[in-house]
Amino acid sequence: MLIVKKFGGTSVANKERIFNVAKRIVEDYKKGNEVVVVLSAMGKQTDILLDMVKDINPKASKREIDMLLTTGEQTSVALMAMALDALGVPAISLNAFQVAMHTTSTYGNSRLKRIDTERILNELENKRVVVVTGFQGVNKLDDYTTLGRGGSDTTAVALAAALHADACEIYTDVDGVYTGDPRLVNNARKLKEITYDEMLEMASLGAGVLHNRSVEMAKKYSVPLVVRSSLNNSEGTMVKEEIKMEKMLVSGVASDANAARISVIGLEDQPGVAFKLFHHLARHDVNVDIILQSIGRDGTKDISFTVNKDDLEEAVATLERHRQGSLKCQKIDVERNVAKVSIVGAGMMSNAGIAAKMFEALYDVGVNIKMISTSEIRVTVLIDDEHLNKAINAVHDKFFTSRL
Ligand code: ADP
Ligand code: ASP
Ligand code: MG
Repeated sequence: MLIVKKFGGTSVANKERIFNVAKRIVEDYKKGNEVVVVLSAMGKQTDILLDMVKDINPKASKREIDMLLTTGEQTSVALMAMALDALGVPAISLNAFQVAMHTTSTYGNSRLKRIDTERILNELENKRVVVVTGFQGVNKLDDYTTLGRGGSDTTAVALAAALHADACEIYTDVDGVYTGDPRLVNNARKLKEITYDEMLEMASLGAGVLHNRSVEMAKKYSVPLVVRSSLNNSEGTMVKEEIKMEKMLVSGVASDANAARISVIGLEDQPGVAFKLFHHLARHDVNVDIILQSIGRDGTKDISFTVNKDDLEEAVATLERHRQGSLKCQKIDVERNVAKVSIVGAGMMSNAGIAAKMFEALYDVGVNIKMISTSEIRVTVLIDDEHLNKAINAVHDKFFTSRL
């Protein structure tokens, strides 16, 4: 069997953890498997490097930031290869350049385009464990790029697809995918399995246990994933196309405290206004989520929407630039202290009353809803971030406690 195993930062945070992971790899290797390992940077190393950027030059170019961040993963793979060697197993570490993992040009949030498999296959042929840097790639200028925070999962899934691996295992610091973030939701429980579509919604709505692009890619190339703990042997969660279990109405709750709300007040109530507004934002790569437009009155209307907090400054600056020109409005209002809470589940599609049940849970704990957005398999609300904890627990327990 060819197995791709990915270990996140906490799983390789220190010497003891590195050897703990190395021993798991050795077990697979000794059974005669070909093993490709993908690693994140050790512990909080990526955050530490980003703090260094802030300290030296908060306006540093994205190119140089990526150059710096890729050192985190390079450190962990080299140390892991050394640990495997110390345990008597031949291993080689490779970075994105050596593999050749080609990405789009964008720094900080690039997408994998193609992976050369020749070098990895040669090393496997020579009976080595191959330890590959997660999160990084190389663009057409031969510069390092990174895939966005949490991107090592995507490296692992992309490698599993390119190598036609028999298994892709994502090892992390929790036992699998839960009905809510176990660090926030007290009664969260582990799911045995979840579909790609549900997992993709959960990941996109803030469940950081998997990088959302990794799920997108797993679905596209039919790579079944298992998410499990690197610290124990419990079974984990399967992420796949179809699940056998009785369909649950709601598979989980997710939250995202990294949201901000922008309201553009007093826009002209005319055709083309929304187009212009969101076109300007799209040109600056600002992703917009929940959108709410008021009914026109006195020839004007308001449009409110949420963006990622990291994009807030760029979004406001863009709108301010166009305010006197193509986008006439009275005021641009910003709210930072907001958070999103979502419920996700394929069973929602044909079930009226799910949204009402969620709103009731929020009413029960006195949380006001600022905005609402729904799709076939999710409902998202925007609330004050100071209420996030009680809101997410109340919503979770409304749907899950009876079955605990
Ligand atoms: P790694 O470094 O292994 O990639 P991450 O921190 O990226 O680990 O992802 C694991 C974390 O995801 C967990 O510690 C947990 O707090 C968080 N998480 C958020 N939502 C969920 C969920 N629904 N199920 C499990 N973990 C979740
Ligand atoms: N080290 C990177 C991060 O912290 C990538 C990852 O861990 O997946 O975001
Ligand atoms: Mg992660």
